[in-house]
Amino acid sequence: MKSDKILIVDDRADIRSLIENILRDQEYEHILSATSGPEALEVVERELPDLILLDLTMPQMDGYQVCEQLQANEETRPIPIIVMSEKRSSQDLQRSFEVGAMDYITKPIDAIELSARTASALKLKRTYDALISAYNEITLLNQHLEELSTTDELTGVKNARCFWDYLSREIQKFTRFQLPLSLIIADLDDFKKINDTYGHLVGDQVLSYSGQLFRQNLRSYDLVARYGGEEFAFLLVNTELAQAAVVAEKVRQMVSEAQIDIGHEKLQCTMSLGVASLTPDTPPENVTAQFLVERADRALYAAKRGGKNRVILEDAQ
Ligand SMILES: [Mg+2]
Repeated sequence: MKSDKILIVDDRADIRSLIENILRDQEYEHILSATSGPEALEVVERELPDLILLDLTMPQMDGYQVCEQLQANEETRPIPIIVMSEKRSSQDLQRSFEVGAMDYITKPIDAIELSARTASALKLKRTYDALISAYNEITLLNQHLEELSTTDELTGVKNARCFWDYLSREIQKFTRFQLPLSLIIADLDDFKKINDTYGHLVGDQVLSYSGQLFRQNLRSYDLVARYGGEEFAFLLVNTELAQAAVVAEKVRQMVSEAQIDIGHEKLQCTMSLGVASLTPDTPPENVTAQFLVERADRALYAAKRGGKNRVILEDAQ
């Protein structure tokens, strides 16, 4: 038994049953039928058959119109159509192929011809389906690889390479649209001490916990990346310095309030953050990725010098 689903469309009952008998002899068991164009469209949409045998001459809506409608729909377009007609004129042939039919059979139906053309159309359809599913698999795989290549494994946030790519794209956008862009560079305080006291595994746990915290609490269009060892960068699009300061303060608070479970005790950490922005007033020569990072870095060092666990804005230095 063959599993392909075949739809027969003809306004004549005797022709429908003749074709059905030929197909059953060929061991096709999923045979559907429709008696008009509109009914055919309905069945196709519902059943998505593998092949349509379509009468050209029908009242109400002819085979050409059915073809055109099926071609216009992305989902039904790949279904092969064999049109059937009493007359064989080159104009009919040409028009059939123009509206998307893949083959043409002349009536009266010849059983051998119908079986051969049906088998060959279905073979093409199976090849097409296999290609599409391979293509979909590759697309998914690519998405997964893309995700892996831009993600920092330990923290789950973006990696430094992705940060620099994204930053340079946003700088380019800024030069065109002049929408404010803010950068926060944040560094876990006394991280070396955590590593020295509890070991690197606990250090990794703190980093991983922080990454999770940031991913869950930022706007989806902001970028958070692991910028260095225990440094994170937050790139906030369409965000002015004052708004970025609010975000930075929220991050600072989130980290300082977190209780990181390291088994025998709960660990508390703090974070220092430096914030810098580009605005339409920024001199054009200062609109570079490097310079924005330097300014945020300077603010970060001011936060460290000022006693850690704080947010410093570039202007306030
Ligand atoms: Mg007819």
